[in-house]
Amino acid sequence: MDNVTSYVEEHKDRFVSELIDLLKIPSISADSKFKNEMITTAQAVKTQLEKAGCDLVEICDTPGHPVVYGEKIIDKNLPTVLVYGHYDVQPPDPLDLWNSPPFEPVIKKTELHPDGAIFARGACDDKGQMYMHVKALEYMTKTNQLPCNVKFMIEGEEEVGSEHLGWFIENNIEKLQNDVILISDTSMIAKDVPSITTGLRGLSYMEVEVTGPNRDLHSGLYGGTVGNPINILSKMIASLTDENNHITIPGFYDEVEELSKKEREKMAEAPYNEDEYKKKLDINDVYGEAGFS
Ligand SMILES: [Zn+2]
Repeated sequence: MDNVTSYVEEHKDRFVSELIDLLKIPSISADSKFKNEMITTAQAVKTQLEKAGCDLVEICDTPGHPVVYGEKIIDKNLPTVLVYGHYDVQPPDPLDLWNSPPFEPVIKKTELHPDGAIFARGACDDKGQMYMHVKALEYMTKTNQLPCNVKFMIEGEEEVGSEHLGWFIENNIEKLQNDVILISDTSMIAKDVPSITTGLRGLSYMEVEVTGPNRDLHSGLYGGTVGNPINILSKMIASLTDENNHITIPGFYDEVEELSKKEREKMAEAPYNEDEYKKKLDINDVYGEAGFS
């Protein structure tokens, strides 16, 4: 791996211009106006995977936007790494908050990026990271240093809740077999703090309808006998968590793994300054023990 720096230096201009080309395509999954651009982006990713050395690359249809699948199998007995990424991006609105147009990438030096960084929608979520893995494959295939099998699963619906990823996985279990899944679609604690994300909070939502009497009721005549739906709903929402913000729904934690003592210790080592945190968010208080220890 000692040649990786010189390989990057040698091919840097091409790497950057290829990534910029990818960033120029507005692959906005949430807006059906961009359906063609989604296909163009999937095709561009396919081409890049082929150039990087994949033996098989496919654009796989799903009931939604397609998934780009690629693989480089060198030896069935070796372990297989599956790289996950996504080629869709968030809608860029509101446009007037951009210093430069979202799909016209520019390289700028800033206080945070003294060496320069690309500014464009998707540059750091997730086209940039996804592209890094593609280029890592290129380096390893071109220099005969690939130590394992590699598969890529690059989806186009991450920004809209990965609606059909489950469907795709269920229909391609054999094809996606792997030993390790590698994802670079998370964040780093700081530029100088390498971070591994081992778990994420999920989200769950539902629509609840509370119905009441067939008309507005006079408080003097009916107050105290018939519940007002908004009061009932408020009580229901408030009862979802206890005083430590633990969720009170029976069975909610049944399949949630407890953090080990070691994991908690590791998390506690991460740099964190409560005053800075509060200042950044313009708030006076954060939840205590329950949230952070
Ligand atoms: Zn992402």
